[in-house]
Amino acid sequence: MTWEQRWHPLREEWVVVAAHRQDRPWIGETVNREESPLPDYLSDCYFCPGNIRVSGARNENYTSTFVFDNDHPCVGEDAPDKLETPPGIFKNSAASGVARIVCYSPRHNLTLAELHSSEIEKLLTVWQAQYVELGNRKEINHVLIFENKGDVVGVSNPHPHCQIYATNFIFKTIEIESRVSGRYLSETGRVLFQDMIAAELEDGRRIIFENDTAVAFLPYFARYAYETYVAPRRPHPSIATMTSGEIKGFAEALKNLLVRLDNLWRMSFPYVLALHQAPTDGGRYDGFHFHIEIHPPLRRPNLLKYLAGPEIGGGNFLSDTAPEEKAAELRSQPETHYKQLA
Ligand SMILES: [Zn+2]
Ligand SMILES: [Zn+2]
Repeated sequence: MTWEQRWHPLREEWVVVAAHRQDRPWIGETVNREESPLPDYLSDCYFCPGNIRVSGARNENYTSTFVFDNDHPCVGEDAPDKLETPPGIFKNSAASGVARIVCYSPRHNLTLAELHSSEIEKLLTVWQAQYVELGNRKEINHVLIFENKGDVVGVSNPHPHCQIYATNFIFKTIEIESRVSGRYLSETGRVLFQDMIAAELEDGRRIIFENDTAVAFLPYFARYAYETYVAPRRPHPSIATMTSGEIKGFAEALKNLLVRLDNLWRMSFPYVLALHQAPTDGGRYDGFHFHIEIHPPLRRPNLLKYLAGPEIGGGNFLSDTAPEEKAAELRSQPETHYKQLA
C-alpha cells in the first residue's frame, strides 16, 4: 500500500496519498450505460456550422476550428463599471475582459481525443494566436484556455469546444505557479518544471508517453486519480514561443494521452483540461514552463471524486489511489481509440 504525504512543488502543498492494497487496478472495467451516439450535425446546436446562435449571430460554414465571442460571457467589454461601493474592507472591480469559444471541428460528435493529430496541431496554433492576440491587449493580464468535458463537469453543449477567459486579473493557480517558479529560478537558477520532468523521466513509472519534444505523465503528487500533464521538453513560458516542430510533438503527446483515457473504460472520458501559461501583465516569467493539466473527476467508472472535508474544509487533497497504479493502467492502454478499433 501507499500511505504517505507527497509534496506538490507547483502549489507548495501536501497531498495525502492513502491507497490500500485491496484497490486493485480497474483495468478491463467499462461503463455499463450505453453511450448514445451523437449525430455529425444538429440543427438546434448553437455551435454547429451555419446555425444561428442565441445572440442572433450566424456561425460561419467553418471547416476546421471556429472562434467566436461567447454569447453568455462571465467577463466582457460590456461589464458595468459603475459598481456599488461595498462596505468596510470589501472591494470589487469591473468584470472586464474577453470570453471566447473555440469549436474544435464542424462535427458535432468529434471530441478532442478523436481528432487527427494534425487537427490537434492546427488547434494548438489557434491557441497560440489567441494567447498572443488577447495577451497583447493592455487590459488583459492573463489568458486562460480550458475545456470542460462531460455531463459530470456541467457541460451545457456537447459540441466539442473549449473556452477562453482573457481577464484583467490572474487566475489563482497561475498566480501560485508563477510565484513559486519565479522564486525557484532565482534561488537555484533552474526552471522548476524542468526538474519535475527530469525526476519523472528518472523514475519512469508515471510517464505515459514521450517523444523528442514533448512528454505526458501522471505526476508523483497527483491530486486526482487520473490527473495528467502534457508539456514540451524545452521550457516555454507559454505556447506562443513553441516552434512548429514542438507543436507537432505536443499534439502527438496530447492525442496519445487522451486516447488512453478514453480507452480506459471505453467511454468519452470527462475532464477539466487547462493550459497553464505565463500571465500577460508585462512581468518576466522566465521560470514558468507551459503545460496542459487534465483533471478528470472520476475515480472509477460511475464514481466521482467528491471534494469534502480535507479538500473543501482544509484545502489539501486526499487521494486514495496510488499514482503509480493509475499510471500503469494508462500505460497499458492501446494507442488506437476504441471507436476506431470497433
Ligand atoms: Zn454542434
Ligand atoms: Zn500547472
